[in-house]
Parts: sequence; structure tokens; C-alpha cells
Amino acid sequence: MATQTAHIGALITNPTSAALSDAREYRRLSDDRGGNSIQEQADGNKEAADGQSWNLGAPYVDADRSASSFATRKRDDFERLISDLETGNFGARILMLWESSRGSRKVSEWARLIDLCRAVHVMIWVTTHGRLYDMEKWSDRKVLLGEAIENEGESERISVRGRRTAASQAKLGRPHGLAPYGLMPTYDPKTGKLDNWIEDEAISIVPKELFRLLEKGYSLRAIERLFLKRGYLNGPRPYVKYKEGKEPKERPFTRHNLRNMATRHAYAGVRVHTDPESGKTEEIQGTWDWIVSPERFYNVQRIINAPGRNPAESREPKYELTMTLKCDPCGGPITVTRANLKSHRESYTCRDGHVFIAKADVDAIVIPAMLGYLARPDVYEMLTARKADDENVRKVRADLAQARANREEMEKATPESLSEARVLARSIEALADKIAGLEEQERGLTLPPVLASLLGAAESVEESWEKAPISARREIAKIILTPQLFGEARILRAPRDVFDPVPASERIDWRRVA
Ligand SMILES: [Zn+2]
Repeated sequence: MATQTAHIGALITNPTSAALSDAREYRRLSDDRGGNSIQEQADGNKEAADGQSWNLGAPYVDADRSASSFATRKRDDFERLISDLETGNFGARILMLWESSRGSRKVSEWARLIDLCRAVHVMIWVTTHGRLYDMEKWSDRKVLLGEAIENEGESERISVRGRRTAASQAKLGRPHGLAPYGLMPTYDPKTGKLDNWIEDEAISIVPKELFRLLEKGYSLRAIERLFLKRGYLNGPRPYVKYKEGKEPKERPFTRHNLRNMATRHAYAGVRVHTDPESGKTEEIQGTWDWIVSPERFYNVQRIINAPGRNPAESREPKYELTMTLKCDPCGGPITVTRANLKSHRESYTCRDGHVFIAKADVDAIVIPAMLGYLARPDVYEMLTARKADDENVRKVRADLAQARANREEMEKATPESLSEARVLARSIEALADKIAGLEEQERGLTLPPVLASLLGAAESVEESWEKAPISARREIAKIILTPQLFGEARILRAPRDVFDPVPASERIDWRRVA
């Protein structure tokens, strides 16, 4: 100790460092099991500093973060420490660590820290060793580097073990993590470990209704309102262990809660596993029973992942035929206006005002014609026959799940340079195209959910149309009123030089593929 103290004494008398502290600490909490708390580290370091008569500068602290080489979260203060050392803002001659693995478990990072300390003449004190290491001495560097290599080995072993367990559990379709709302955990009475998930019948009505209504074409906004009216509340569940003071209060489900809920595969009894090594996502039959049928679940995924205008997200529309009817002179969409000042009735027109016709008169022709078409047995057969080949559908869905997971991962990535950001942006774009293509394929292979729900209903097509929300009717009209199916309805201009108004039926031109 005597030689070390003498050495430090020399530094302290150095006029350039007189105003600075002698030492600064880097404290980090690696995990909550087995490690020493930030406070313990602080106390131990303080005691050591007092013993050496060093005054301590402001510490660097990364709480609740892992220094493992597989950690993905940024360690902000570690970055700050490195940058302070590089820019000369560290302002002390000694870096104090609780133990050398508190530096970094990643050999490359640790080596960088050691090299940097050597370059700027900062020594490293390790409290658990009770020793000061001089980075200019090879023997001292070797001790710290050697420990880092062992630490990395350990970190890798733990991580591989963790991954293996997760992967084998996933392969068996075992539940994982917190049970989603509406499912509850059961435990093995002998080992006390999580055994399976079962339906929580007291609250499972919420996800069940959510999926049913989404499939029917209700928007998340409409469901949010409806759930509030029904008094469904999101609150604490008796079998969930909440952190002290983190117990949720009872409050209405928000659209965002509901959207998250609507993407959980667990409701369909499906376990999703992404292999961290290959990044491949797999869907595995779970060990628990579904509370939402897989068919309904995938229908809903299609609705909430729909490209462009998303019926589940947008406001409830007011009219079922706008955007489907076309203005014949310009081919543009039809909108509704109340410009007819005398009657105040709603009329259809286009953006440029080429056509003007009473909305009620057109609807009275177009809607019954469309429903009559849908009620025909041959049409029913033709449409439902599209619900082909399960093998193909499964394949496309698995590819879709994979592509969506990849996109999500890329969107979360933090590029480290401009060129990396560009590459990332291009990859995300390419993936978006791939996803759109797969969605198109999926649509081609299966019956659109809104149509399936209309055609599959026990009541007549007219009755189930009456019950369907406007958003669903709108989707149906968009599918059926196309040249390939019933035909595209184009509104003709009113003929000039005719004094008696022409009936609406003569103002609609049906375009069909021969
Ligand atoms: Zn027009």
C-alpha cells in the first residue's frame, strides 16, 4: 500500500489536478440476483476511498442494467464514462470499480476501457480486490483482461443455457411470461413452477368479445366505447405479482390496450418463439386451450394489419357506399353533400361536382341489388370456395408472421452511422413490400373476414347486413362492387334538355368484366 499512496500523493500535488477529485466510481447493477446493490457498492467504494484518503468525484451509475455481452440495452453512464475519458472530462486519476466484472463483461469493451485508461494515465481500483491497478504495467493489465475473458465466458454460458431452456420450452409449446388478460396461470403443486394457462372465466369475455367484434368489422374506437358502456374495466388480477406500488388501478380499456390484446397469439393457443441466433420466428401449438379460435384470430390479424386505411383503427365511417361508387365522367370517388338547400337531403356528388343525385334513391337500388347477389347460392359457393387449401394458408401466415417480426426488430434497431441507417431503411422498405405481397396472397387464399361473417351468419343476408356496423358494410361493398364480382357502379351525369327528372336506375351504369 505504501508505494501506491506515495504514487497518488505525487499526483495530487500536481498543480493541474489540484482542483479535481482523486477518484471517480463507476457503479453498475448487473442483475437483481446475487449482485451487490448500488448502495453496497457505493458504501464499499467510499470506505476504500477514505482508507486511501482520496476524495471522490461524481459517480457514474448504471442501475438495473446488465453488462453481459448479450445485453441489448444501452448503458448510458458507461458510454458517458468512455466519452469523458476520451475528451479529458473525467477529471480524476483513479477509476473505482466494485469488481472488475462491473466494468464490462464484453472483452472488447473492457479492453477498450483499459486501453483508454492507459492512454490518459488513469489507474483502476477494484474494491473487492483492495488493489490499485496501473494500466501502464503489463502485469496489471493482464490481471484485469484475464478476468474479463473469464467473465465473458461465464456470460456466454449463462446466455446459452438461458436460450436453450427458452427454445426447448418453446418447442414443447409451454407458456411463457405473464399470462395475457383473460388467461391465468396454473402451478405444479409439487414444484410450484408454472404449469399451464387456463381460461380466467371471470374476465375472458373481454378478449373474446374484442376478437368477435373486430372480425365483424367494428373499429377499435367503437369497441372502446362499447366496452366502457358495458362496464368492462382493466384492473389488477389476483394471480399477477405486481411490483410494490405498481398495482394497476381499475380503468377503462383504451384502444391501445385493445390493439395489443388483439395481437396476442396466446388467445389462439399459439406459442410464438423467435430464435435469437437465427432470428427465425416459429408458431407452435401451445399446451393450453385457445379461447379465440385460430381462424378468428388470423382473420383479426389480417384486419388490424391491413395496409393503408385500417378499418380497425380509423373513425367509424358514416356512409357505406362512398369511395365505392364512381363518378362516371371522371372516374373519381363519390362523396356526400347536403348542398340541396331546398330538401336538405343528402346527395351524392364527386369532388369536381360532375354528378348530383339523391343519395337515398341510389342506395335504394344499389344495396338491395348487392344483397340479392350475395344471397344467391351459386355466389355463396363461389365466394366460400376461395377458402381453400389450409396447408398453403398456414405457409403464407407463417411467412407473414416471420416478416412482421423481422420488420419489428429492424424498426427497433439503433443505427450507429448514417450509412447503417440507410441500409436499415432500405431493408425495412424491402420487407414492407414483401409483407404487402404476402398479405395479398393471404387475401387471395381466404375469404375476407367481413364477408365470411356476413355469409356465415344464421340469419338472412339482409338481416345480418342491418346488424353490421357501417365500417363492415363499407368493406363488403368495396369487395362486391367490383367489375370482377357484382360490378362497379358508376353514376352518370343527368341528361340535359330533359325536363322530367330521370329515375335513379337510369343514372347508374354497371361495369362488369364479361
Ligand atoms: Zn367527377
